[in-house]
Amino acid sequence: MATIIDGKAISEDIQNEIAIEVQSLAEQGRKIPHLAAILVGNDGASETYVGSKVKTCEKIGFLSTLIKLPAETSENELLFRIKNLNEDDDIDGYIVQLPLPKHINEQKVIEAIDPRKDVDGFHPQNVGRMALNLPAYLPATPYGIIQLLDRYNIVTEGKHCVVIGRSNIVGSPMSLLMARNSNPGNCTVTLTHSKTKNLKEITLQADIIIVALGKPEFLTADMVKDGVVVIDVGITRMPSDKTKSGYKLFGDVKYDEVAAKASFITPVPGGVGPMTIASLLMNTLKASKKEIYG
Ligand code: NAD
Repeated sequence: MATIIDGKAISEDIQNEIAIEVQSLAEQGRKIPHLAAILVGNDGASETYVGSKVKTCEKIGFLSTLIKLPAETSENELLFRIKNLNEDDDIDGYIVQLPLPKHINEQKVIEAIDPRKDVDGFHPQNVGRMALNLPAYLPATPYGIIQLLDRYNIVTEGKHCVVIGRSNIVGSPMSLLMARNSNPGNCTVTLTHSKTKNLKEITLQADIIIVALGKPEFLTADMVKDGVVVIDVGITRMPSDKTKSGYKLFGDVKYDEVAAKASFITPVPGGVGPMTIASLLMNTLKASKKEIYG
């Protein structure tokens, strides 16, 4: 039976480690890390995500600033706010919560963020540095997965890692990180996507499978070999009359049957999801200590 990778526990461990470091920075009279977040509009899910990021910052001793702007904010106004954050020495890092309202060009906004403060790791400069294996802010979900592999001492060197999904926020960066000369890393990587043929033939050869396509229970037991490591990134909300909330979360893996064959597996919820916040905090601490860009 597989070892269940407990992302909630690892995320809490990381938060506690950072809280201790912040306390020691405070005792030495050094700068306390300060994260800002911009939220445009009143999308319920985005408000919840940003709210929980700010709350966690406060819990571990960071300073946080939430800038809430109305949905009709113009692109120019948002770019002006970004310029102010770039120039504000007190702010170490910041995020612009996505998605943005349709009249704002997301790519333009991402490129306006000072790469030194881009703790989401979405700026092309950070993506390029990551690809070159230079110090960079890593995007939250892939960075979280790397932490899970590392903290569970999962051997990756020389293994065949199959990534399913090639999004800019998960699949593509994940394939780069698993292939690079680093630990975790040093895998032979196959990046698969919606146009891939014979996916099952490929997944059956995988030692590690990272699934991020957003299709509930897509990866089934007949697609994996014994002893595989499975990282399930998918989160899909499905209506359910069996839960109080009226919905249930599903991953991209048919959990019970795949867990019976796997050596390690992440559950949904409680696997990759809780790591996102830990990654953001780690990046903000790095920004405050000027670890990436000096
Ligand atoms: P996306 O929707 O941007 O991209 C999906 C990818 O899956 C595409 O690259 C597509 O080519 C590929 N794909 C689609 N059908 C396929 C098929 N039949 N075979 C192989 N590949 C196929 O995805 P995303 O933004 O990376 O999100 C993926 C899932 O991960 C979603 O459920 C999302 O909610 C979840 N997610 C979770 C976290 C987290 O913190 N746990 C973070 C980000 C995304």
